[in-house]
Amino acid sequence: MSLIACPECNKQISDTVNVCPNCGFQLTQDKITEIKVKDKKKRTRYRIGCLSTIVIFIFICSFIYKEENTADYFNEPLSMITIKGTWGYKENNVFHKFNFTSSGAYSYSASSDMGQLTYNGKYYFTDSNNIKIYLNSGKSLTAKVGLSKDKEILYYMDEVMSTSKSMKRINE
Ligand SMILES: [Zn+2]
Repeated sequence: MSLIACPECNKQISDTVNVCPNCGFQLTQDKITEIKVKDKKKRTRYRIGCLSTIVIFIFICSFIYKEENTADYFNEPLSMITIKGTWGYKENNVFHKFNFTSSGAYSYSASSDMGQLTYNGKYYFTDSNNIKIYLNSGKSLTAKVGLSKDKEILYYMDEVMSTSKSMKRINE
């Protein structure tokens, strides 16, 4: 037994009765089946509606979050003084570490169980959010850098490799 809505008075009634106990509406078996099919469709539509609302909501939220986050990083102008220090991130069991000095030199190291790779070079700000990094090979690349509001995270976007990383400040 399940409950259906009476087509006349809309009250919830049993699907086993022939007459609505509330309003006296005559129910045939065909009518009950029809109501059940309609109810099922309505429920499915409702579920799909709920689900898509949630999906859209999450999508919009993540979009807003991303927008705010990126804007936050690049709001404030940076300088060699503000990014001076050691920053790092871990990826695939490799620990990447950057140390920027206020005189335009940097050192980079990547360490894992396999060993350590380091190189030193020069960098300078082309404007308040972009730095040019000179590599050992003589090549250079530009990277977009920004700090998060709490000044704990350095956002780094390599425009050549089109990758982005968040690095945490490491106190040494
Ligand atoms: Zn009724």
